[in-house]
Amino acid sequence: MEKYIYAFEEGNKDMKDLLGGKGANLAEMTSLGIPVPPGFTITTEVCRMYYDSDQKYPQGFNSQMKEFIESLEAKMGKKLGDPKNPLLLSVRSGAAVSMPGMMDTVLNLGLNDEVAEGFVKQTGNERFVMDAYRRFIQMFGDVVMGVKHHSFEGALQEVKDKRGVKLDTELDAKDLRDVITKYKAIIEKETGESFPEDAMKQLQMAVDAVFGSWNNSRAIKYRQINDIRGLIGTAVNVQTMVFGNMGDNSGSGVCFTRDPSTGEKVFYGEYLMNAQGEDVVAGIRTPKHLDDLEKEMPQVYKELTDIMTSVEQHYNDMQDMEFTIQEDKLYLLQTRTGKRTAASAVRIAVEMETEGMIDKETAIMRVDANSLNQLLHKQIDTKADVEVLAKGLPASPGAAVGKVVFTADDAEEWVDERGEKVVLVRNETSPEDIHGMAVAQGILTAKGGMTSHAAVVARGMGKCCVAGAEEIKINYDKKEMKAGGKVIKEGDYISLNGTTGEIILGEAPVIDPVMKGEFGTLMGWADELRKLGVRTNAETSKDVTVAKEFGAEGIGLARTEHMFFEGDRIIAVREMILAEDEAGRKKALAKLLPHQRGDFEALFKIMDGLDVTIRLLDPPLHEFMPSDENGMKEVADQLGVSVEVVDEKVKSLHELNPMLGFRGCRLAIVYPEIAEMQTRAIFEAASNVSKQGVKVKPEVMIPVVSSAKEMEIMRKVVEKTAQAVLKETGADVQVVIGTMIELPRAALTADKIAEHAEFFSFGTNDLTQTTFGFSRDDSGKFIPAYRKQGILEQDPFAAVDQEGVGELIKIAVQKGRQTKPDLKVGICGEQGGEPTSVDFCHRVGLTYVSCSPYRIPIARLAAAQAAVRNK
Ligand code: PEP
Ligand code: MG
Repeated sequence: MEKYIYAFEEGNKDMKDLLGGKGANLAEMTSLGIPVPPGFTITTEVCRMYYDSDQKYPQGFNSQMKEFIESLEAKMGKKLGDPKNPLLLSVRSGAAVSMPGMMDTVLNLGLNDEVAEGFVKQTGNERFVMDAYRRFIQMFGDVVMGVKHHSFEGALQEVKDKRGVKLDTELDAKDLRDVITKYKAIIEKETGESFPEDAMKQLQMAVDAVFGSWNNSRAIKYRQINDIRGLIGTAVNVQTMVFGNMGDNSGSGVCFTRDPSTGEKVFYGEYLMNAQGEDVVAGIRTPKHLDDLEKEMPQVYKELTDIMTSVEQHYNDMQDMEFTIQEDKLYLLQTRTGKRTAASAVRIAVEMETEGMIDKETAIMRVDANSLNQLLHKQIDTKADVEVLAKGLPASPGAAVGKVVFTADDAEEWVDERGEKVVLVRNETSPEDIHGMAVAQGILTAKGGMTSHAAVVARGMGKCCVAGAEEIKINYDKKEMKAGGKVIKEGDYISLNGTTGEIILGEAPVIDPVMKGEFGTLMGWADELRKLGVRTNAETSKDVTVAKEFGAEGIGLARTEHMFFEGDRIIAVREMILAEDEAGRKKALAKLLPHQRGDFEALFKIMDGLDVTIRLLDPPLHEFMPSDENGMKEVADQLGVSVEVVDEKVKSLHELNPMLGFRGCRLAIVYPEIAEMQTRAIFEAASNVSKQGVKVKPEVMIPVVSSAKEMEIMRKVVEKTAQAVLKETGADVQVVIGTMIELPRAALTADKIAEHAEFFSFGTNDLTQTTFGFSRDDSGKFIPAYRKQGILEQDPFAAVDQEGVGELIKIAVQKGRQTKPDLKVGICGEQGGEPTSVDFCHRVGLTYVSCSPYRIPIARLAAAQAAVRNK
């Protein structure tokens, strides 16, 4: 018979697909001799069958389950449902990829009225037993029987009010018995069924609920947001209970082997005495720092930190662990690779390499390239004069500025419907809030610690979060909060500093990040390992300077049309458009020439010796003309013509399909004087700058080419002008001419086009548009639906569609190099800085990728990862 269940002694850490992450690691820790409460794992295979088959569970499953329970009973010397010596269990989910808090958990399973009384006798601790029992009914009722959490909270509150106490811990055994009676009545009333007393039945129902929770809406949403695909389901871990709530010598906690926020090599964690694990993560009580445990229980602290050290050594990565202390004895309940901020990921990777734990390649693979966004992101300007309202824990770094909202639904509505930027403010967050957290600029909670739900999820999302700001008082009904003596209403601006924990009134100024230290080291390793060059798409001095600081090795795309809008240049551009003949156009173009030349000189100087790819004019001319009456009047005044003349020109430029219209090289084929002026500006600039001793390497790029003949004609125009300029100036500058490949026909005829080109650059924005027939400006209307229905896995305008567009790229590379084996080939569409696209570019043998300045570090790291991955 197939094996559906594995005891912890039978598995190991490499069995994540079958046992889930939690199960595999519990097994691994067991085999390392770490104190793990015994138990077993029901495989993810069973979860798959649960959804695939009408019987839900395979034949023989129940008898295996019985066997494993019996052997667990034998091991523990206790029996499930036995009042004299009861075995109590926890039942927890655990998929191959961790999804914290998204699926269901049941603790203290095995209790019923009779067992509870027996357990009181056995432990001599009535309050503890009744507390465990009421927690069990509450969790079981909520998770397994579908009774709303707040019904139970209401009943608990009633009893607290009656007794005039504030905290759960102030209730005594008798009060808790009262709570239990109320809870059972609530279950009966809401479900029409009584709470199941039979322990085996409880277990079956709990396992059922955990499998069921694999497809609850929040788990589905979590997988969507985190792009988790290809899993068959969750495993279920059934484990002997240990109790952190047995009194003042018991407790529960969460710990990290290094600081997950900064990466510093210190033991890091939080715990609560006399509490179960759920209390720590739920953020209901604010926990103590792990350092306090050293004073409180030095022996346990030492044992715990020794285990942390050895487990980290064993896994060679930072671990996130859960522990429980039951009457002075330590147990480990979980270990997993710890989630971390980008800053800490970089620091940990670099330090572990230095410590000799991992090599450079592993270090490179440890950092999610996309997460570098966090490091490149803005921070609150600490020098600015701001009003700090309150301070919480710096749970996830960065800055957030936005309008306050108090519910996740409001956050979603304000952002999606109204286009606002919001900060989500809650007492604490729960997995139900993730849709709101996903759209918020940042998250502020009044309760909870650094390992609270809000903190963990925000860090995973790379989002600024301030947690546990106890000074703020939220009133959900009035939609307002009090902080620092002020009342902040929904819609008022606040700012969060996730690095210091400060909550600031209004819109605080933010500054760009600086990169140094370990980041520089990691980037240096990336540069050693990668094969792809990394260039930038930029044309302003400011952007090009930023890109160079980020490590750009040249410009892959300077869009010259962006230079046409500045100052009064646009007047000359419009004069050129309105000109009646070539002479008129040339007169206007002559006015543009010095501006363009100046722009290019600046680029060459900044890029000193690196390739600078300048693309000739691309967009359809109507983009330079006004469309409204006022604008037309202004143009008429500026150029001394009548409004009618302008209006007529605008009408004549109108196209039904401008993206497929009179644009790109088509403009230069009809009006070669435009290309001539631009070429002249490029080579005059190159000559001037090279005479100042700067090495210049211009590359002239022709846009929207579809045939070799176009390229042949354009090449002649550019070459002739360039040579004429170089003859005039006497400068020694190479003339390099290439083309964009952004139309399917260009890809398919790349061998012929390559005869006239020294380089190709894939314009995957247009190439995607023309391959799919999706307008790049309108596809937002249907791409979300396409992704939802699984027609598209990713937005092809964000990540190269490898199956379709990628096939054209492969053909073009192969055909182009068939003609010119050393043809330089790059990509300059938006996808050029996206890690999966970078990996694809590496595999098809491109020379470089080019992307916007802020994505340069991401591209450098992604390129190195591609080199390691595809070795
Ligand atoms: C492209 O089409 O991919 C490209 C880079 O050009 P643009 O976005 O300017 O059309
Ligand atoms: Mg294009």
